Order: sequence, then structure tokens, then C-alpha cells
Amino acid sequence: MKTRTAVIGGGYGGMAAAIFEKKNGNDVTVFERQDSLGKKLLLTGNGRCNISNENIDVTDYLTDDEEKLGSILVRFDRKKEDEFFASIGLLTRSDRGCLYPLTGKAKTVGNCLVYALNELGAHIRTGCYVTAIKRNADGLFDITAASKVYGGFSKVILSSGGMAGIYDESSKNGNQLASSCGHTLKEGHPGLTAVLCSDDRKKLKKLDGIRVRAGATVIKKGKKIAFEAGEIQHTADGLSGIPVFGLSRYIDDMTDTVIKIDYLTGVTLDEFKLRALKFNNRSVETFLEGMVLSPIAEMAVGNCGVNYHARIAGLSEDEIKKMYLALTAADFHPMQLNGYNKAQISTGGVLLSETDENMQSRYCKGLYLVGEVLNVAGRCGGYNLHFAAASAYCATF
Ligand SMILES: Cc1cc2nc3c(=O)[nH]c(=O)nc-3n(C[C@H](O)[C@H](O)[C@H](O)COP(=O)(O)OP(=O)(O)OC[C@H]3O[C@@H](n4cnc5c(N)ncnc54)[C@H](O)[C@@H]3O)c2cc1C
Repeated sequence: MKTRTAVIGGGYGGMAAAIFEKKNGNDVTVFERQDSLGKKLLLTGNGRCNISNENIDVTDYLTDDEEKLGSILVRFDRKKEDEFFASIGLLTRSDRGCLYPLTGKAKTVGNCLVYALNELGAHIRTGCYVTAIKRNADGLFDITAASKVYGGFSKVILSSGGMAGIYDESSKNGNQLASSCGHTLKEGHPGLTAVLCSDDRKKLKKLDGIRVRAGATVIKKGKKIAFEAGEIQHTADGLSGIPVFGLSRYIDDMTDTVIKIDYLTGVTLDEFKLRALKFNNRSVETFLEGMVLSPIAEMAVGNCGVNYHARIAGLSEDEIKKMYLALTAADFHPMQLNGYNKAQISTGGVLLSETDENMQSRYCKGLYLVGEVLNVAGRCGGYNLHFAAASAYCATF
């Protein structure tokens, strides 16, 4: 017998779920509050849509249920994902492991999904803002949207996404729908976004615009919370760039939190000391020139109290060590995260542990949860779109 399925939210996860559900022979209606499907997709990957990644692992995500996430990622592997892309007529290419549509345009992805939905005969209701999900006397779901009740669904897939990107207050509504069905929401914050720091404005201004390959560690109350490496971008307000975006997922309350940047990744203290011996006729400034950009060197050396113009030969062993530490663990103090409108994801959401292995709600049989509405926050690199499609697959098979 055909299942009547309502999909709430026509983003990437919702469209993928609707396609899988139609392929199972079910009758599917997609409710989307915007005037067209997949609006956020157009913003992804700077308009190029980094749709997935060739290397996906549980450790690329922050979630409350790693075991469940692992099983979702295994079920929707690269082969299954490629079959899905092929089924909607999408060709992709890899750029250092990150997958993009071959056209390099996010619009292609959205269009291919919409063509597939139309070909499969899904009902699409845009401009249809769902405000309530209720079970009726027959045990079926009634969906209230735009002051109308659409009744008689035996399955509801909630794929209402998060608040990042096109944020307004009503974007929170998906979470409220989930909590009205008995779910616990993990408090979230903007994720994959820049970190504004409370450090000296003059120091930040001097570094503004500098991009360097470095390692960054978040330390909270003296404990290492997360590490990311890659190209860090200094701004007049703090830190940005892909590794910092990744770290922003872990930074909620800023008390006792520091980001330590290692500008000399891979250089040990012993190697640093040997270099100091070899170039002891140089000044600190010229000695460091071959290792780090000078505004960074000047800032770090200034922080540890060593004279930037002193000769290396005149420094004590302790001063050499202090310089090394200042360059391998330079402190930045997070004060605030860039807002939802500048972030790529919302962290938090419905606890993944409150769904079964098929994404079905443990509290409301027939309700399934897919994509960013769940407490799963991937790093930059196609991981969040991948999770949206993977959870959609698991909710429909
Ligand atoms: C600027 C930017 C760049 C990004 N780049 C990438 C990238 O390159 N790679 C990557 O993997 N991820 C990227 N992301 C993250 C990625 O876009 C999201 O994680 C992904 O879109 C989540 O998919 P989703 O279907 O769960 O939610 P969404 O895409 O947010 O879709 C949810 C849909 O539900 C609709 N909706 C919400 N509530 C209701 C309601 N009550 N009734 C009806 N409709 C409703 C919304 O309008 C929306 O269309 C980026 C995000 C942003 C903002």
C-alpha cells in the first residue's frame, strides 16, 4: 500500500528524502516556506556547492551520538551517494577530496533535484509555512500550513534545517515542531563562522588580512577541546578561515576559553634552538624572517617580552624558549561568534540519540528527522550536505 508522506522543508535534505520516498512508490508532498525549493543551496560553497567529500568519517562531525552517526555514514557510502547523483542527472568532480557539481554552479544541484522531483511526480507546495504537526483520531498526521490543514499523512519527514544563512526568527520553527512532538533540543549557536576576539585592537589590526597555514587549538578551562589545521585568516576583529570555522562549532560559552595558534607547525623546540645557534649573529627580527611573516613574529615576540631588535647571541636560553612558545601557542581570546546570517550552520538541534537507526523519532512513531534539524555539525568541506543526504537515505529505506 502507498504511504502518504509529508516532507517539511524543501532544502537539500528534504528534496533528497522526497526523491528517495517517491522511488519507493510513495505519495509525497513537500512543504516549503520559501517561494522556491533549495534556496540555501544556492549560497553553498560560495555559489559552487561543495556537495560532499571523498573522505568522510564520524570525527568530521560534532554530535551527541557517534555510534548512530557512524551507522548512517556507512549506509550511505560513496557508492550510494554517486548512484543518487547519477539518478538526478548530476555529474560531480573532486577538488582535493571536496566534491562539487561538474558545472561548478550550485544552481545545477538545485535544478537537478527539482527536475527529479517533478519527473517522479512529487507534490510541491512552496510558500507553505508549516506551523503544526498533529496526530488525528485515525492515528494519521495532520499538517497545518498557511492556515490550512493538510490531513491524512502516515509518515512525516521533518527536514526544516537550521538558522544559518537566511536567518530570521521563523527559522527556529522547525525545532519547535520537533519539540512539540516530544523531542529534546540541544541549545545551539552559529557554527562554521568567524570568531571575534577580545584581544588588543591594535594587535588585531596589525594582523588584519594575513593568511597563514597554521594549527589552532581551543583550550577551555585548561583542557584541549578541539584542533584544526589549515589556512587561518586574521581579521580586524579576530580570526577566520576554514580551521577557525571548524573550531567555532566547539565554542559556545567563551569563559576561560582561548584559541592557541601554532605558527611553526612541525618545528620542535630542539630544532628552533639549533636554528638559533646557527643564526646567532642575526637579530630576532631577521632570525624569524625565514620562519614566519614579520607582523606575526613582531606580535608574538612582543607578547613574550623579548626585544625584537636584540641579537640572538645576546638572548638567554629561557628567552629563546619563550619566543618559541609565543610562536607555537599564540593566544587569542574569543569574545563572540559571527551571527547566524554569516554562519554556515546552526549547531545543536534535536538529539540524534532520540531517533532510531532509520531516523524515526523515538517519541512519535511515523515522524522522521533529517539534516541540520538534528544535532550533527560537520566541519567545512561538504560534510553537512553529505549528512543531509545520508540521513534522508536512512529515513526512506
Ligand atoms: C553560506 C552557506 C554556505 C554553505 N556551504 C556549504 C557547503 O559548501 N557544503 C556543505 O556541506 N554545507 C554547506 N552549508 C551548510 C548546508 O547548506 C546545510 O547544512 C544544509 O543545507 C542543510 O540541509 P537541510 O535540508 O537539513 O536544511 P536547509 O537546507 O536549511 O533546508 C531546510 C528548508 O526547510 C524550510 N523550512 C524550515 N522550516 C519550515 C517550516 N516550518 N515549514 C516549511 N518549510 C520550512 C526552509 O525554508 C529550508 O528551505 C552552507 C551553508 C551556508 C548558509
